[in-house]
Amino acid sequence: MHEATLAENILNIALDAAEKNHAEKISKIGLTLGEMAGVEVEALTLSFDVLKKNTPADAAELLIKRVPIKATCNKCGKTFQLEHYNFFCPQCDGILILRSGRELLVDFVDCE
Ligand SMILES: [Zn+2]
Repeated sequence: MHEATLAENILNIALDAAEKNHAEKISKIGLTLGEMAGVEVEALTLSFDVLKKNTPADAAELLIKRVPIKATCNKCGKTFQLEHYNFFCPQCDGILILRSGRELLVDFVDCE
């Protein structure tokens, strides 16, 4: 994942939203980011802070909601919250099916 490209996309989405709402300033941008989306939050924030200069998002804050990795076993049916994604169930060696953790979304854009 290239954080700089992602930051640019997020900024463009926010600027579009501001334009549609005839807003002059963007105050907050809400993101949902899965633990497995492969995004470095720090790198993303840094890139965003550089890109937002001299745009209506100059003072915008990124509010990032992390989504944990959850997977369900196809054998015992249990759902686990994982630190790192495994392919096999920690209890019965069944195969884990990913339920969440890959999300990468702009939730909302708050304008003034
Ligand atoms: Zn299992």
